[in-house]
Amino acid sequence: MLTPHEALAQILARIPAAGPGDVEEVPLADVAGRVLAREAISDVDLPPFEKSMMDGFAVRSTDCVDAGTTLECVGESRAGVPFGGAVPPGTCIEIFTGAQLPPECDAVEMVERTTRAGSRVTFERAVPGSQHVSHVGEILATGRAVLGPGHRLTPADLSVLASVGYDPVPVYRRLTVSVLTTGDELVPAAATPGTGQIREGNTLYLAGACGRLGCDVRRAGIVPDEASALEAAFGEALEQGDALITTGGVSVGKYDLVGAAFERVGVEPILHKVAIKPGKPIWFGMRGDRPVFGLPGNPVSSLLGFEVFVRPALARLAGAGAEEQTERLGRARWTGPERRSSGRQHNLPARLGTGADGVLELEAIPFRGSSDIVSAARADALCVIPADGSIRTGDLVDYRPLG
Ligand code: AMP
Ligand code: MG
Repeated sequence: MLTPHEALAQILARIPAAGPGDVEEVPLADVAGRVLAREAISDVDLPPFEKSMMDGFAVRSTDCVDAGTTLECVGESRAGVPFGGAVPPGTCIEIFTGAQLPPECDAVEMVERTTRAGSRVTFERAVPGSQHVSHVGEILATGRAVLGPGHRLTPADLSVLASVGYDPVPVYRRLTVSVLTTGDELVPAAATPGTGQIREGNTLYLAGACGRLGCDVRRAGIVPDEASALEAAFGEALEQGDALITTGGVSVGKYDLVGAAFERVGVEPILHKVAIKPGKPIWFGMRGDRPVFGLPGNPVSSLLGFEVFVRPALARLAGAGAEEQTERLGRARWTGPERRSSGRQHNLPARLGTGADGVLELEAIPFRGSSDIVSAARADALCVIPADGSIRTGDLVDYRPLG
């Protein structure tokens, strides 16, 4: 059986990364969370002029070598309205935060360290060159790359793109992901379950998780455990989405018909089992350039399958960079009791906290297995126990962040 790491590598090797044909120009105001498709290059120096970082007076530092110097104030420079005149030696100008320094001046003293009598300004202390001045291009030089392709844009990045003149912005198109669940026992949340029935939650989890990744979600609901219904639903979902995620029906039971139905609608099977707990029977295949994930039906199994395999795969399909095309893992100290795994990697819901020494810690929470979505929803993380391994109180261990 493949390790989770090997399985992810096999999956990623088959996923086509977004390319030039997937690029669209989107208004800057709408690109938070989208993936940048081309390098963003600055068309300006930042700051574009010698800029005061304080309210006070701009001077020649050579005029203010000694404490107690008095200079004549000959004008004012404020943000957006530079001083137009000359600043002869022995004079200064009043200046405000964000204003341009006159070419003669090389330093600023803050108003709090000066006293003013009419047009005469006395400086409490010597003013060194460059004090409180932000130099041309010190934040960013013209022609420099600020953000690379594959980067998922944060709100702060939007501010950066604005300052370097990007509007609209070349980003990769949004993916449409089809999500459905299979099972004769399943009813929607608003229904009252009959005998032997349960309300289904997996499609809600998957749709929410895909939405947070910036995908549009197409919900295809609940499909019965019946070959022709599955084929019809899969065929339609694959026409309409860039990827398909299903849950349930991928195990070895008599009513686990999903894998065979995928194959009958032309999906090439690539893998069907991974040494991971919960969620061993994961089905992955491709139809053309469209990935198909059959996740197991137990809610924590499908959550884990999404975290470990689907998230990095969708990131690649969406054009996101290498840092997203990988398992999200952190390290923290396990404070729970000793836990052992079998031949598969185990994943246990846990809460993150901080120890008395400031080290990040993972605390065990009660967990009743792969159907215990209540514990998984309360968890901040899944603690990873390596296959055929164990973790003991105080060990530094891997964890998968949730949420
Ligand atoms: P399966 O993978 O189809 O054998 O399902 C395994 C378990 O997960 C069964 O107890 C199902 O009732 C349950 N299950 C399957 N799909 C869902 C779903 N969408 N929401 C909640 N539980 C589910
Ligand atoms: Mg089922």
